[in-house]
Amino acid sequence: MKKKILSFVLALFMTMTFMTGAATAQSVDDLKNDLESIEDKKAETQEKIDTTKATLEEVTEEIRRLESQISKIETTIAELQKDVDAAEAKLIKIREELKKAEEERKEYKEVLDERLRVMYMFGESSYMEILFSAEDFGDLISKIDMIKTVIEYDQEIFAKLEAAEKEIEVKKEEIEVEKNNIIAKQNEARRQKSSMDQVIVSRESYVSELNSNARLLEEEQKTLEAESNKIKNEIMSKQNVNEKVNSVYSWPVPGVSRISSPYGWRIHPIHGTRKFHSGIDISTQGRRGFDAIAVGFGEVVFSGAQTKTIWDSKENKYKTVLTGYGNYIVIDLGLDDNGNKVSALYGHLARRYVSAGQKLSPGTPLGEVGTTGTSTGIHLHFEIRINGSTVNPLKYVSP
Ligand SMILES: [Zn+2]
Repeated sequence: MKKKILSFVLALFMTMTFMTGAATAQSVDDLKNDLESIEDKKAETQEKIDTTKATLEEVTEEIRRLESQISKIETTIAELQKDVDAAEAKLIKIREELKKAEEERKEYKEVLDERLRVMYMFGESSYMEILFSAEDFGDLISKIDMIKTVIEYDQEIFAKLEAAEKEIEVKKEEIEVEKNNIIAKQNEARRQKSSMDQVIVSRESYVSELNSNARLLEEEQKTLEAESNKIKNEIMSKQNVNEKVNSVYSWPVPGVSRISSPYGWRIHPIHGTRKFHSGIDISTQGRRGFDAIAVGFGEVVFSGAQTKTIWDSKENKYKTVLTGYGNYIVIDLGLDDNGNKVSALYGHLARRYVSAGQKLSPGTPLGEVGTTGTSTGIHLHFEIRINGSTVNPLKYVSP
């Protein structure tokens, strides 16, 4: 993985070096060669992006696997905690029972000790003395009953004491078992928790690796875009038509006169924000098949597309899509009365018919009006630029 990151940095470095080369280019021909090299470079970068995409997919899969592992461990820990709670409640109950048994034993022992003390004082003969002291037969029977009761009572106390002793022994064993049970569960929970912590650490390292790869990709994308823009600007600044070739301009879409959005400040139809509209929108009201034409004599300085790379979460991969102007063309229209450079931009085209360097006459078809890039319907976004800055196109063209 480290190796891959390094190769990105190297690619970035090489790309930047190349940009410096582009800046020193002298002629438009040189610039066009540079643009070609950039295209090669882009193809190379695309290969690297594909490799990274594969890595990102692997890492995403790994994160998914770790997350399911974590949720399993959390369930196990919750179950163990329930077991521990139950064992602790049981332990409390057993301890109460033990206390009760010990109290009973104390009570029986006291009774028994008292009986033994009495027996020691009077000895076995005292039973006989009691019997001989009977006044009549009825009295004798009642005295025999009394002695019988006393002996039975003694035996009962002995039995109860014995039972209490046994109960105490059992309860003590039970306490030992529950204590061991709790310790085992707690150890298990600790072990599970530590294995979960390890999983989390490894997941975090995957996430940061994923982010770092994505960031490098993004930077590479930005660098390529900047490079491309720089070259385009250079071409614009080195326009070939350095004379006044037009006295009037044609309307850019013959047969379509509806302006759905004028030049200037407006609310953006997609983003809902207040935004400066750099051109006019000429709407075909949903109809296809209209051509945008060259509004005067000149030369194509740019014919291409504005794109961006996005993450498609449904397909789980990167995708290059049109953005901004979409398919667009810039033409050089020569100088105006004051010696300023005039150019025109045609945005959101469905198709482009011309390529950079091509000479144009008024009416030359440039492309089909469409809705590519950031657009809500079929229309031509048309700009007039004076020395590269936009002005209201309606000062130059009218339907
Ligand atoms: Zn527009």
